[in-house]
Amino acid sequence: MKSESVVIIGAGIIGLNVALVLAERGYASQTTIIAEHLPGDTSINYTSPWAGANFSAISASDKNALRWDKIGYNHLLNLAAKDGERAFVRATPSTEYWDEMPSRMKLDSMASYLKDYKEIPKKELPQGVAFGITFTTITINAPMHAHYLLQRLRHQYGVQVIRKKVSDITSGFLNKDTEVVFNCTGNAARSLKGVEDPKCYPTRGQILLAKATHINQSVMRHGKDYETYVIPRPYSKGNVILGGYMQKGVSTPDTIGEETKSILSRTKAMLPELDSPDTEILAAFAGLRPSREGGARVASEIVQVNDLKRKGLIVHNYGAGGTGFQAGYGMAVDAVESALVELQILQPNSARTIRSAL
Ligand SMILES: Cc1cc2nc3c(=O)[nH]c(=O)nc-3n(C[C@H](O)[C@H](O)[C@H](O)COP(=O)(O)OP(=O)(O)OC[C@H]3O[C@@H](n4cnc5c(N)ncnc54)[C@H](O)[C@@H]3O)c2cc1C
Repeated sequence: MKSESVVIIGAGIIGLNVALVLAERGYASQTTIIAEHLPGDTSINYTSPWAGANFSAISASDKNALRWDKIGYNHLLNLAAKDGERAFVRATPSTEYWDEMPSRMKLDSMASYLKDYKEIPKKELPQGVAFGITFTTITINAPMHAHYLLQRLRHQYGVQVIRKKVSDITSGFLNKDTEVVFNCTGNAARSLKGVEDPKCYPTRGQILLAKATHINQSVMRHGKDYETYVIPRPYSKGNVILGGYMQKGVSTPDTIGEETKSILSRTKAMLPELDSPDTEILAAFAGLRPSREGGARVASEIVQVNDLKRKGLIVHNYGAGGTGFQAGYGMAVDAVESALVELQILQPNSARTIRSAL
């Protein structure tokens, strides 16, 4: 099998996780990643470097979201235990507060797998908070974790990586050997030819990077129209991320002074230890979460590939919104499974060849 048998378009956390799942299942030598932006780059069109990031209850409550979260959490917890420092992920104590009662279904799901999950007694909740939990979260140094994944894919597994912008999703079918193209293009799914999904929209967030070596816990408050959070950035010599905003449909890349002030006052009120001479604000950033009405799209589609005069399999995996780091591995497992099932039906001979690599 050729390295162009499986092509992944996109090297954000979603495409990198698809490559990881493929590599873990023995398909690395057949896999090529094509992306305009790679770990190490910064661009408003590349969301992954701007993430906080942690595991939180920010995701939706539908069955898929709950399942992806659970798979993602277990994967990251295991990674933190086995190789946390190299992977830039760490198990971290966490508190989450809600101004309004969250869905019981979601809480029951989280309670079933989160390490050290506890509901906070009502009398211990801060003013205005309706419900709260503590648990062990995973904090992720987003830019460095993406870099770690890329290095591992290239050097440990031998995945091929090409920097290129494609103008049409079917350009992923590089030649007659390409069996499947994974579409992991994030916000670009709205405009990329051959995808053009009108349900996609950006959700802007602004964050502050601060040095605060004394902060070792993650705290979040989910309000009616705001999200406030403090996330220590693991293996960064004491940096923390302060946030934030969830601005639906807003795509400005600028950072805004008033928003910086609001983030500072909200995070200090939520975690008074931050209000100290030991906290130094280093920078403000904005990023655009790739959101989608109805949730992420992890689904296969058969398309006509005109250049090759045959049909081809595309597996879409985009629209992770604010959850790409926590749910990305779970989404990737579904995407890879979906490809294997479709290939078996569509091209039994090729599927057998791919499966024989197992
Ligand atoms: C402020 C902020 C805080 C966040 N905090 C968290 C958090 O705490 N936890 C969490 O789980 N998530 C968090 N997120 C969400 C997370 O960052 C996203 O869900 C995730 O980064 C989306 O990854 P992606 O791979 O889909 O997109 P991207 O990272 O944008 O990657 C898209 C890839 O597709 C490529 N591409 C697109 N079009 C083309 C083309 N035509 N040709 C070639 N390549 C193309 C790009 O170059 C890039 O490589 C946060 C996001 C923001 C903005």
